[in-house]
Amino acid sequence: MRKPLIAGNWKMNLLVSDAVKMVNELKSLVAGVNGADIVVCPVFTALSAVGEALKGSAIEMGGQNCYLKESGAYTGEISPQMLKDVGCAWTIIGHSERRQYFGETDELLNQKLKFALASGLKVMFCVGETLEERESGQMNDVLERQVIKGLAGLSDSDFDSMSVAYEPVWAIGTGKTASPEQAQEAHAFIRGLLSKQFGAGVAEKVRIQYGGSVKADNAAELMAKPDVDGALVGGAALKADSFAGIIKASV
Ligand code: PEP
Repeated sequence: MRKPLIAGNWKMNLLVSDAVKMVNELKSLVAGVNGADIVVCPVFTALSAVGEALKGSAIEMGGQNCYLKESGAYTGEISPQMLKDVGCAWTIIGHSERRQYFGETDELLNQKLKFALASGLKVMFCVGETLEERESGQMNDVLERQVIKGLAGLSDSDFDSMSVAYEPVWAIGTGKTASPEQAQEAHAFIRGLLSKQFGAGVAEKVRIQYGGSVKADNAAELMAKPDVDGALVGGAALKADSFAGIIKASV
């Protein structure tokens, strides 16, 4: 049985004071909720303060991205070691906005993933097709390319420290959620790829989160699908009550 992983990707939102207020509210709303791993991914400027606010809580913190070097002349970048230094246990790698707006390729993401894992961070690795790719029948090819190239070279034990997040690009921030059946179909396909490439043991243990307009009122039916093991939430993770609603609907 895979424990649901519910993560909030705050993207480029919330100033430090709002971020701290949000996690303080979240802590009390989900106190006593067992049965899910909970992660928040604030902007870099809020990590330190949110990390302090989360001390002693079961809620974990993640970065939204990181680079593939520990330190050095890489203006504007941040390393896994720096994320860990301020209390992150996780990072997101490969979000569609990084692929789309910042030109991150499968090859680069594979290097970033391996470096983050080797540095001791857990990783939520995102994959997903655009609307155009889905409508032109390329969905499976795109997912296969992103999974095979993105996860190339990982060992069995690497998969203990990562999840795959299926995030159809057409469902991100659009209010158009994939139906539970569409999500299940894609998740089962991804699990099949993992099995073929890395073996049944890996496929069985890796959590596959769904992301794309998840809300408290659609979370339960998505989570009820056998291959949906959690959620990566954008907009609805910015407010403590809506994020807590998703968490409670998922356990
Ligand atoms: C996301 O950006 O990872 C996401 C799923 O966003 P939203 O929930 O707003 O669609």
